[in-house]
Amino acid sequence: MLSLASIVLSVGAALPLATANALSGALHRDVVVIGGGAAGAYAAVRLRDDFNKSIALIEKQDILGGMVDTYVDQKTGATFDFGVQTFLNVSGAKAFFDRFNVSVGSYSSSASLITEYIDFNTGAEVDFEVPSITAQIVAIAQFLTVIEPWESMLQPGYWNFPDPSNIPDDLLIPFGEFLTKYGLEDGAPIIYSTTGLGVGNMSEVATMFALQSFGWDMARALTGQLGLFTPTSGGNQALYNAIATDLGDDVLYSSTVLKSRRTNSGVSLTVRNHKTGQLTPIIARRLLVAIEPTEDNTSPLDLSPSEQNTLAKFTYSNEFAGLVDNAVFNTNYTYFNLPSTAAPNHTLIFQEEPMVASFEYTGLDHLFRVMVIGNTTSTADEAKALAQTNFNTLLKTGHLSSPQDQKLSWAAFSTHGPMHARVSVDEVKSGFYQDLYKLQGARSTWWTGGAFSVNFQTKLWEFNEGLIPKILEGL
Ligand SMILES: Cc1cc2nc3c(=O)[nH]c(=O)nc-3n(C[C@H](O)[C@H](O)[C@H](O)COP(=O)(O)OP(=O)(O)OC[C@H]3O[C@@H](n4cnc5c(N)ncnc54)[C@H](O)[C@@H]3O)c2cc1C
Repeated sequence: MLSLASIVLSVGAALPLATANALSGALHRDVVVIGGGAAGAYAAVRLRDDFNKSIALIEKQDILGGMVDTYVDQKTGATFDFGVQTFLNVSGAKAFFDRFNVSVGSYSSSASLITEYIDFNTGAEVDFEVPSITAQIVAIAQFLTVIEPWESMLQPGYWNFPDPSNIPDDLLIPFGEFLTKYGLEDGAPIIYSTTGLGVGNMSEVATMFALQSFGWDMARALTGQLGLFTPTSGGNQALYNAIATDLGDDVLYSSTVLKSRRTNSGVSLTVRNHKTGQLTPIIARRLLVAIEPTEDNTSPLDLSPSEQNTLAKFTYSNEFAGLVDNAVFNTNYTYFNLPSTAAPNHTLIFQEEPMVASFEYTGLDHLFRVMVIGNTTSTADEAKALAQTNFNTLLKTGHLSSPQDQKLSWAAFSTHGPMHARVSVDEVKSGFYQDLYKLQGARSTWWTGGAFSVNFQTKLWEFNEGLIPKILEGL
């Protein structure tokens, strides 16, 4: 086993002189984690508090929690979660809240709202007859029976993903075709409106990626086989604030990696605080990357050509969520965007991204939650501009209480950035996931987060539970 000192020497020796000199003031850690969202914050707690490893957690923002967006009404203190809504009660999930004394209760979605289907591109009312909730739930139960045999191939990670010649054909056909093949069309509206819309037009996405955006545990939750819960006060951010208190100075906030060197015996990072400009060298025996492996995020990570080649194959949706405060919306309404061609009962027809999914009443004053699903290149400005254009269309076409032009008043807006990483069916068939998982552990680096697992908070914790023993091997 290598000592920390020998790693400092072997990694430091390969660094430019100026950096190597600065290493005298370096932080020395067993594991350095990049990204303090669901995956990174959880891993940091487990590694430090339960496995007694020294850690440093590098987080770009000034809070932990990533996609958890809790809005706090300044007047009343009431909270509304406009990002993450709820947690799947998979094994160990509630216990993780308990250890931070964050009490939880069953999740109930906001007050029953009247849904108006509108084509946001034209303002036309869409006379869409959604299947009854019973028909939808029956379809979800059947859906679960069909997909159950494939669960271990995709969750909680791709460790058991089959070799190209053994991948079930159903996983690679478009999801709309899959639902039609098994007579599950009635389940599509609830799959889409809960989480499936994250991948955009889910009918066109390969079934395996649509399953990753909804999948087994959501189906179990909707059919009453698995619980959903949220904190009873303070919103979902309450958990991550408690983790922040626990981790204390081991978190470097407002910070990103400037440059790095990764070898089989350890890693060396230079981290920059973008508020103060302070540079912090970190020497660690392992690196855990808990951010999306996009080109921007990985450019300071000293990628090898083969790492770069593999990770560059991912494409992503860009997701944005916000709250708007405009009195012209009718409270108790959800304005839901569907193409006119979905009428009267075409459950597999959805808008193409970039698109605003809905304006949904929050139950607080005139606040409406807005979800924008962008394509690979969509920016925050474009997402806001699209929401404004759709809002203008709703005003002009008489869906709101005034036809007068007005600006959307944003009470909150969050860029969730690239997520729902996926590759082409040809890449899957060429062994992409086997190549991806060869990166696990190589050059002292481990990878977690949606691209390597799935985009649900507590499922990522489950994934981490399998990853942590591998990280700890030889440490
Ligand atoms: C609108 C919305 C609603 C959702 N609802 C639910 C839900 O109800 N239930 C559920 O289970 N899941 C939900 N999800 C999905 C869930 O939030 C994600 O799967 C989960 O947050 C992914 O965790 P992560 O740690 O991989 O990424 P994140 O939570 O995004 O965390 C990444 C962290 O890394 C930081 N970071 C990014 N880049 C860098 C960098 N270069 N250097 C340093 N730090 C960086 C970010 O600031 C962030 O804190 C929702 C997602 C969205 C967008």
